Amino acid sequence: MSASVTISGIAKSYQKGVPVLLPLDLEIQKGELFFLLGPSGCGKSTLLRIIAGIVEPDSGSIFFDGRDITALPPEKRQTAMVFQNYALWPHLSVFENVAFGLRAAGASGKTIARKVAESLALVRMSDFAERKVPSLSGGQQQRVALARAIAVDPQVLLLDEPLSNLDAKLRDEMRCEIARICRERSLTAIYVTHDRREALSMGDRIALLDRGKIQQTGSPVELYKKPRSRFAASFLGDVNLLDAVAEGCENALLRIRTEIGTLFSVHTENANPPSVLIRPENIRVSTAPSEQNCFCAEYLTGTFLGERCELRFRTESGRILDVNEDSSELREAGKKYFLSVLPQNVVPLED
Ligand code: ADP
Ligand code: MG
Repeated sequence: MSASVTISGIAKSYQKGVPVLLPLDLEIQKGELFFLLGPSGCGKSTLLRIIAGIVEPDSGSIFFDGRDITALPPEKRQTAMVFQNYALWPHLSVFENVAFGLRAAGASGKTIARKVAESLALVRMSDFAERKVPSLSGGQQQRVALARAIAVDPQVLLLDEPLSNLDAKLRDEMRCEIARICRERSLTAIYVTHDRREALSMGDRIALLDRGKIQQTGSPVELYKKPRSRFAASFLGDVNLLDAVAEGCENALLRIRTEIGTLFSVHTENANPPSVLIRPENIRVSTAPSEQNCFCAEYLTGTFLGERCELRFRTESGRILDVNEDSSELREAGKKYFLSVLPQNVVPLED
């Protein structure tokens, strides 16, 4: 039942002259868990609502399995939506909540019983069928909302920040659950979030949005390791961004002059990057120099965070660098160290 989704030239502004989505294109595969990731207000929910048919686009078309559904009303699109605030009926039992869409579609009592049982089993809520919604925890309510969405066999499952109301531990647990359910059912799912950890840990692919424009699309690893822009680099993780001037290739490495000295990068596609990214966890701290991409720096301060330490150094050129280490001891303030970074971890950016 899952469909592929093609978005072609979709644009939207609610007010004249204030575009919320610039014309954008996306291809989402059948069975893919696809993320729309971006800061608050960038247009994620608008795009999701356009796919659901709740909001009308100004231009462009949407196809499910190659069929143009742009003119179809929401109820004919066979999508199902899961929201941050669950949107369950408080006076109905869990069973009746999950049955709601099936009843509305005129399914038989037998079909309803079977589909509800299947969906509740999938979200591991079978024992709660007769419970009323207010007696459930937030995490359980979100499982019920998910079961309700899945029960109607949607062509596309749409999730809008579904975990934002849950506390951190439950959120981690539900991430795994939602990813498991989507994969077990081969659901085409479009998942909206501003939380990079959700997108990185769950997604097959991610489209990164900013101000109504897709900045970059790729797998979580691609986006994290090879962001194209400063925005993508910063949105997906911790960064050191250095101004750069390329000085040509040497032994198949790009030689780049930066604020902290000359660096070599294996990434030679962009011959003239104006800046480079070094992620804090890719800087190694040593008391002995190494041959390449090594510079001297003074340790300033650090924070112990349990699983890692966040350290701050000042290079001889005066530039502050953030370094994340998984060691448990903080360094010695005022002491000089050698910092180094492998050429594959010097990532040229486009801006
Ligand atoms: P996101 O989900 O990424 O936070 P939204 O799609 O909700 O972003 O909103 C994008 C922009 O459109 C915001 O500036 C928001 O204020 C505006 N917007 C959203 N819905 C409406 C609406 N119904 N009427 C007018 N402006 C809206
Ligand atoms: Mg939103």
